[in-house]
Amino acid sequence: MAERIPFVDLRREHLALGRLLEARLIEVARSGRYVLGPYVECLERAMADYLGVDHAIAVGSGSDALRLSLVALDIGVGDEVITTPFTFAATLEAIVHTGATPVPVDIDPATYNLDPRAVAAAVTANTRAVLPVHLFGLPADMQRICAIASSHGLAVVEDCAQSLGARIDGRPAGSFGTAAAFSFYPTKILGGIGDGGLIATGDAELARRLRGLRNHGDNGTGGYDSAGFNSRLDEIQAAVLMLKLDHLDARVARRRHIAARYNQLLAASGAQLPTAGAGVEHAYGCYTLGVAGRDRLRAQLGEAGIGSALYYARPLHLHPRLAAACRYGALPHAEAAAARCLSLPIFPELSDAEVDDVALTAAQCLERGA
Ligand SMILES: *Cc1c(COP(=O)(O)O)cnc(C)c1O
Repeated sequence: MAERIPFVDLRREHLALGRLLEARLIEVARSGRYVLGPYVECLERAMADYLGVDHAIAVGSGSDALRLSLVALDIGVGDEVITTPFTFAATLEAIVHTGATPVPVDIDPATYNLDPRAVAAAVTANTRAVLPVHLFGLPADMQRICAIASSHGLAVVEDCAQSLGARIDGRPAGSFGTAAAFSFYPTKILGGIGDGGLIATGDAELARRLRGLRNHGDNGTGGYDSAGFNSRLDEIQAAVLMLKLDHLDARVARRRHIAARYNQLLAASGAQLPTAGAGVEHAYGCYTLGVAGRDRLRAQLGEAGIGSALYYARPLHLHPRLAAACRYGALPHAEAAAARCLSLPIFPELSDAEVDDVALTAAQCLERGA
């Protein structure tokens, strides 16, 4: 059957913004300011306010936000960075590109996030940082991870690519670590119409270094301090993101509403549903089920015209190109999650009827499969 309900449809959001969006694009085109201009500054201030941090530095992508954060912390060859193997490749690649050794440790099977006990057990004399991912929009256990990091003098770099809008006890994910990396890739919770990213930090010296690193080491006074990168955000992205930032909270609320409906309709299905502990606000960058017959469920949804996605079919320590760079032990929970997880559509423009259709179809498939 042709796809009735896609996994994601970015046109719906942009068509709804209509003339407002088009007017912004024309305004930037006519302005003569295209890279690191007034809209970028505006976005940095607005994001810093939203996150409750002192500094926000816009960069070219979420991947760069991670990599530049590690470089700014002087992490490199001989250093180890503890992270999760159950994430997007960019998380691990950022460590590899600094020359440091990624140390993937196992996840908590209930949350799919880094297990703090595994983090503590993996610390060595070479460990420099912990890189937790707030996977699918669910905050990692930052209280315990930050406590372990501070007792060993480690930096914490949060991967917030999927978690803008998530909170722990009212405090935004991305405000706990030494630095936090956000992505504005079009499919993320706040997405541009191209690539983009941002780093949040409370550390003024780190922020100063990051502003240099994103622009070839430019120190702002005509000199070049270090070998930097070209990772500048452009004005078109910043202008579009500023427009969308006004709708961010409403759109995250819509994601939560869809997730609650899925949870309700799939409660008796036997699938492992997303959970959030007391005080933890999930942002639902993804809505992900854990099921034994994952591939069959995905095929049956496809036959019914419903899109789904495999985040992630393979944990990163089993990627041939990445495994060689890592130091790791047994990671059974990450491997089990990769075999069981399936993500359902959860973009905010889904209608209530589409949401019910997805959930009821999935429930039927699971009933048949059981
Ligand atoms: C998307 C994503 C990234 C990378 O962001 P880009 O903007 O695509 O470079 C990093 N980590 C995670 C967990 C992601 O989902």
